Amino acid sequence: MTDRNETLFNRAKAIIPGGVNSPVRAFGSVGGVPRFIKKAQGAYVWDENGTRYTDYVGSWGPAIVGHAHPEVIEAVREAALGGLSFGAPTEGEIVIAEKIAELVPSVEQLRLVSSGTEATMSAIRLARGFTGRDKIIKFEGCYHGHSDSLLVKAGSGLLTFGNPSSAGVPADFTKHTLVLEYNNTAQLEETFAKIGGEIACVIVEPFAGNMNLVRPSENFVRALRSLTEKHGAVLIYDEVMTGFRVALGGAQSLHGITPDLTTMGKVIGGGMPLAAFGGRKDIMACISPLGGVYQAGTLSGNPVAVAAGLKTLEIIRREGFYENLTARTEQLVKGFQTAAAKAGVAFTADSVGGMFGLYFADHVPQNYADMARSNTDGFKHFFHGMLERGVAFGPSAYEAGFVSAAHTPELIDDTVAAAEAVFAGMAG
Ligand SMILES: *Cc1c(COP(=O)(O)O)cnc(C)c1O
Repeated sequence: MTDRNETLFNRAKAIIPGGVNSPVRAFGSVGGVPRFIKKAQGAYVWDENGTRYTDYVGSWGPAIVGHAHPEVIEAVREAALGGLSFGAPTEGEIVIAEKIAELVPSVEQLRLVSSGTEATMSAIRLARGFTGRDKIIKFEGCYHGHSDSLLVKAGSGLLTFGNPSSAGVPADFTKHTLVLEYNNTAQLEETFAKIGGEIACVIVEPFAGNMNLVRPSENFVRALRSLTEKHGAVLIYDEVMTGFRVALGGAQSLHGITPDLTTMGKVIGGGMPLAAFGGRKDIMACISPLGGVYQAGTLSGNPVAVAAGLKTLEIIRREGFYENLTARTEQLVKGFQTAAAKAGVAFTADSVGGMFGLYFADHVPQNYADMARSNTDGFKHFFHGMLERGVAFGPSAYEAGFVSAAHTPELIDDTVAAAEAVFAGMAG
């Protein structure tokens, strides 16, 4: 049988650079042919060969209620019949903004945009406009989208600012971005002691999900809030991944922290292009047309995306939604850990709400350098072994995984059984 995935990949490579519209999709770090997806339903995706996979990517997070949930599809259909885009305000935008603010109380006001990249880029511009300061702090291994000043790797010393991590980004654009180590409270304290008055904002993934899943320590979380507050810097929780994923109130509800600004995306669009940034009213008042910080978007608050988001937010508020999601995710990671231990494979796992991390290491990593020491060949082997058995994970050791409400206990058991076979093969 001809492999349609391979045929399509070759055809795509002729017209789309690398054959994909977002680099990780190309399977570069695991090798092999990316699966071209034809359709998705509930916990499953089907590729162009008609092969079905149990999906733990969930479109990288948005598919929290399961793919193509009938109520979400119906909401989208209804909205689409009324027109796809107006470039004018709509009532739906107010309703979703009110709902988000109700669920995430630190968000007093918010703006809708179309991608997480736009949300973080705008939040940083806003923090700079509000404070009148230029310098920003991010942490190594955290991803906040692909805007220029965030595509940066650490400089050589503590107070040396970052260097571009992508070609095409002028060093001048990253010279105000300081890259620190995740979970290194002492380094954060030292930095604020030296240049705290120059820092516009600190942006952080409150549970990192772009270097696999890495939890912050309690100590680090408290320091982020107290140091930014003390030095008049804006604390931005980038909850594009964690918002409505780890808990109904996001990571901030689990941390008991009130950030100044929050960015969201992924789940709030329910699979459509929708993201948001919001927070303190006095800060949000600095945005155009009220204030001098410019920000705009032709498709911002798109009515069809808002309809998908609203219905998704309605479903996740139903009784027991997060209890079930959390229990299923724990069932998965515990099952994997037991299976790996039985096979004698160095492996551990962790989860928060509906998000999980799998590590081919003897401990749960604490930061990027720690994660980089894990056995990525082990991951590759596991990834392909699972894919052959009809289970799909993100094609990189540096990605978190996602469970949806459509993943039943029986389905998770099947996934664990597949993992047992793969781990057993890895031991030998
Ligand atoms: C996915 C992600 C982004 C970028 O969102 P896009 O919609 O891909 O632009 C930003 N921050 C975090 C934490 C993310 O996980």
